Amino acid sequence: MRALVTGGAGFVGSHLCEALILRGYEVWAVDDLTSGRKENLASGVTFIERDVAYHDLDDLGPVDLVAHLACPASPADYLARPLETLRTCADGTRHAAELALLHDARFLMTSTSEVYGDPAVHPQPEGYWGNVNPTGERAVYDEGKRYAEALVMAMYRKHGLRLRLARLFNSYGPRLRSGDGRVVSNYIVAALRGEPLTVYGDGAQTRSLCFVDDTVAGLVALALSENVGPVNIGNPDERRVIDLATLIIELVGSQSVLEYRRLPSDDPVRRCPDIGLARRQLGWEPQVSVEDGLLRTISWFRASGLY
Ligand code: UDP
Repeated sequence: MRALVTGGAGFVGSHLCEALILRGYEVWAVDDLTSGRKENLASGVTFIERDVAYHDLDDLGPVDLVAHLACPASPADYLARPLETLRTCADGTRHAAELALLHDARFLMTSTSEVYGDPAVHPQPEGYWGNVNPTGERAVYDEGKRYAEALVMAMYRKHGLRLRLARLFNSYGPRLRSGDGRVVSNYIVAALRGEPLTVYGDGAQTRSLCFVDDTVAGLVALALSENVGPVNIGNPDERRVIDLATLIIELVGSQSVLEYRRLPSDDPVRRCPDIGLARRQLGWEPQVSVEDGLLRTISWFRASGLY
């Protein structure tokens, strides 16, 4: 069995490659290394440097599973590369899905909780259609992923793509880049350096953080199931951003203080997955508490020296 993972040198992608190797797959990782790093790749993974937004993957078969994770996922990254992000969501997704169609392989599409935008329904079930600003700065990612969902659903209906569609909520863990810009990496790095933790707005906005091992277990369970989805993969333990800041300061044992900054435009006020579907259909739910996951992530940053 061979699996091809786009974004396989990235944060979630590299963990997924490892999980697939443990399940006996021969794994190929495709990555253009804009946000991925070769050092993330486990030994045994075959690496192909390629930007899926501009190049198809038709020469890379045969495969049994295509997992499509290639895309900037941090707001800092996709706001810096807006047009590339749209192109990755559109042509990158098409190229990956076409490879799956060519070999009648399963196709695991990683979409995002961002398709719910600034949600009016809380927590968010898969049946909620979302509240997204189509002309805002974040639209390159939110609407890009909504387009990607529409594309793979059309390929499923029209061509019988063997689709498994996941919506990932905020994930964190070892291999987050220190300069990634997302809340967990920013806060751990600042706390370890003894620098101020930057709270955007008043910090009352919420997120629900899922440890990467749990995220990957959910992705594998969905990929190997017979469910088309969409299925939410996330941890429903919802926290205010300001509480995450004080928790991380405490867990690091840091003297850092909080520093308030402007709230980015269209920053969702609250976010929490309804994971009833994943529980029922996949028998999956997160196993790692936020405190435990953060401690493991802090240990990794300390040991790697990447801060
Ligand atoms: N955030 C923050 N300080 C930071 C980074 C992020 O207060 O240094 C906030 C951000 O405004 C958002 C939440 O933390 O409300 C999560 O941001 P992140 O960029 O991790 O992901 P998002 O869920 O917004 O895509």
